[in-house]
Amino acid sequence: MQTHFTLAQLADPDLAEANGILRKCVHCGFCTATCPTYALLGDELDSPRGRIYLIKDMLESGRPADEKTVKHIDRCLSCLACMTTCPSGVHYMHLVDHAREHIAKTYKRPLFDRALRRVLALILPYPGRFRLAMAGAMLAKPVRRLVPRLFPGRIGAMIDIAPPKIAPPMAHDDPGVKPATAPRRKRVALMTGCAQKALNPDINAATIRLLNRHGCDVVVAKGAGCCGAMTHHMGETGLSHASAAANIRAWTAEIAGEGLDAIVINTSGCGTTVKDYGYMFRHDPALAEDAARISALTRDITEFMAELGLGEASGPGLRVAYHAACSLQHGQKVTEAPKALLRQAGFEVVEPTEGHLCCGSAGTYNLLQPEIALKLRARKVRNLEATAPEVIAAGNIGCMMQIGAATGIPVVHTAELLDWATGGPKPEALSRQ
Ligand code: SF4
Ligand code: SF4
Repeated sequence: MQTHFTLAQLADPDLAEANGILRKCVHCGFCTATCPTYALLGDELDSPRGRIYLIKDMLESGRPADEKTVKHIDRCLSCLACMTTCPSGVHYMHLVDHAREHIAKTYKRPLFDRALRRVLALILPYPGRFRLAMAGAMLAKPVRRLVPRLFPGRIGAMIDIAPPKIAPPMAHDDPGVKPATAPRRKRVALMTGCAQKALNPDINAATIRLLNRHGCDVVVAKGAGCCGAMTHHMGETGLSHASAAANIRAWTAEIAGEGLDAIVINTSGCGTTVKDYGYMFRHDPALAEDAARISALTRDITEFMAELGLGEASGPGLRVAYHAACSLQHGQKVTEAPKALLRQAGFEVVEPTEGHLCCGSAGTYNLLQPEIALKLRARKVRNLEATAPEVIAAGNIGCMMQIGAATGIPVVHTAELLDWATGGPKPEALSRQ
């Protein structure tokens, strides 16, 4: 694609980066075939190629973002299916992140939209605040059922997504070392996350047991918290970089102390962002080197277990529909490890059709774009249920909540099944059956 940035514009390293990405696009349109919003809405401006043109015009002109551009960029899920499909290696993720930052800086959103985004940015990354917000949503649920019009649109979507119970803080998420229960092979940090802790504490518990049983000391580093993904995808760079910098410092202190063989992440949305810290901090002289080291050490739990070896396992032969989270399959290109591990653990693994399509969760997307998110969820659940599974497995809490809210089939984390098959307890969602 031809671009027409001035030399003065290209002196800005971020714009120069965006220019390099734009020039790789050859307008072939292959990416439109796998884009969920194009599949649903059929509008070229809701396809990756259309958005790339909008971003090019916005950045080249140097003008503030306009309403039309914001509308179509906001509808993008950041699912990155387009990056998997693109034959030219267009790094859409970095391009759309740059566009979102430009929008956040130059576009004045309507008051309600602005307020909602601010509230989400101030609540979601903090487990204590998130628990309070979820408790409020749980109280509002019966009222919404009786008088739906009291909570229209996005407020209603937030109430609907609230889980039936909120977990209190758990000791296993506290900073410290959870020692290996088999001869020690590795020392790893576990990112315990933010919202996941409140929504489903069993995921971290199962991950720690699995790692301990396979000879890993598990460190929950003091000072590590939210990865920054949710604010990053809202274009709130200052907030997302502050969260990321805290993690980089916390894990770097561990590396400098007793060392780390890996940073293990069991929420693939977070994993994609942490693997990108090196890029996010590339111009920061104080943190660039540490950030790149952290990204290089980061592994999804299934990626890490595949490297480590699962060893003896005796799964109960359940039929598992594997849902590939976009952040895992498109963002991190981890596609085979989860399925291979589940098979090795004794499960029968089946995959839905349209496995490349997003379930509509996508961070805060199901709260900010509930209509599209609900359509994607219905399509995903239909495809998963068509495989007649006894359980659905996924590697991302957002997908688990999104899918779990629309099906009676239990939804568990892949790590919970691997833990069970190697000596851990039966996942609670299956015990309720
Ligand atoms: S990230 Fe997903 S929704 Fe956005 S343009 Fe790419 S394929 Fe479409
Ligand atoms: S597939 Fe790649 S090169 Fe082709 S239009 Fe999409 S982004 Fe551009």
